Amino acid sequence: MAFAKLGLSPATLEGVRAAGYTEPTPIQLRAIPLVLAGRDVIGSAQTGTGKTAAFALPILSKLGQHAPGPRALILEPTRELAAQVETAIHDYARFTNLKTTVVFGGVGYGRQNDELRAGTDIVVATPGRLLDHLERGTVRLDKVQFLVLDEADRMLDMGFLPDVRKIVERCPRQRHTALFSATIPPQIETLIQWAMKNPETVEIGARRSPAETVKHVIYPVADSQKSDLLLQLLARVNYNSVLVFCRTKHGADRIAGLLKRNNHAVAVLHSNRTQREREQALRGFREGRYEVLVATDIAARGLDIADVSHVVNYDVPQHPEDYVHRIGRTGRAEATGDAFTIMTAEDASHVFAIERFISRKIPRVKLENFDYRYTALFEENKPGQPRGFPGKVRGVRVHGGYHFGMARRRR
Ligand code: AMP
Repeated sequence: MAFAKLGLSPATLEGVRAAGYTEPTPIQLRAIPLVLAGRDVIGSAQTGTGKTAAFALPILSKLGQHAPGPRALILEPTRELAAQVETAIHDYARFTNLKTTVVFGGVGYGRQNDELRAGTDIVVATPGRLLDHLERGTVRLDKVQFLVLDEADRMLDMGFLPDVRKIVERCPRQRHTALFSATIPPQIETLIQWAMKNPETVEIGARRSPAETVKHVIYPVADSQKSDLLLQLLARVNYNSVLVFCRTKHGADRIAGLLKRNNHAVAVLHSNRTQREREQALRGFREGRYEVLVATDIAARGLDIADVSHVVNYDVPQHPEDYVHRIGRTGRAEATGDAFTIMTAEDASHVFAIERFISRKIPRVKLENFDYRYTALFEENKPGQPRGFPGKVRGVRVHGGYHFGMARRRR
């Protein structure tokens, strides 16, 4: 089914055509008619499914022409995501006279004040800075007709829900609300009850499953060999661009340093870096100046980074949803991607949690000719020892049961 049949305005359709989209994605097919019909919508679809256009296109169609506003407000958990969504909307709206403004912290107020004063139709914002503007009186929300709470579970994780509530309270009750969230924990359920009217849920595919095009594998290794394994993986894999995820900012800096010393072109993305450094890192990675981007979860959440050929989890994520989010960076659109997770004995319970979450076993593989210090990682489970998921991978029979107590040194 073509975009033309969804009921979008002619100018929005032209924007879609110029963006090069030929067919709506499943979430667009389901959500666009609902938003156009004035329904509140809960969307549960992972990033990379086209959810930005799913809410942006019908909102642009309904807004039509520039008018006093803002009439649409989109809340995002991170600055990068806000910037990315604003860029996408700006693109879709290029054949309209609608104006979009992005509002986030870490930068001066000047440009945001100017744009808000000049009058804008759509504000894409992170909660903290938007509240500052509300308190300073540089923005009002009394004309908002469309409210989008994007990545609601992330906003919850980051402690933004009280701010989100304050912001929603400043919007008119008569409005349309859309909420996107990969998971619906109880706090989000409460928010839905409170902020939405008779919402329709649009669930695309299995809520929890990572993109089908991604091949994922786990590399078990001893803690002391993690960085060696990473270097070997990068040396052997034919990649275009790699995202390496670390658990901590400090870890991300350390790994970036290691990769730089080994002649990789590396950028780092984490929340201790200034806004300018973060933008510079992202731009450089997108433009291909950096082949590796080392990031923490918070910094990389939901970012649309095109053509990532590989994702490496240097650290196993502690929340299973983060695994899906991380893997969402690869296998986007038609590209296929590979996802490698480096796992130590201590990570076993987190890996099992991930496998339960995505209802799928992830094969354990051994990097051929890597000088593993502990071969016990790949031995048969002994009776009475924890059971893993057996599987035959590349001719090596591997198991998820780890018995480091019995680990032997090779040679
Ligand atoms: P999102 O899930 O909104 O972050 O979108 C992920 C990627 O898919 C972005 O690069 C979009 O430009 C792209 N995209 C969104 N909708 C479509 C579509 N209908 N056809 C092709 N690509 C799309």
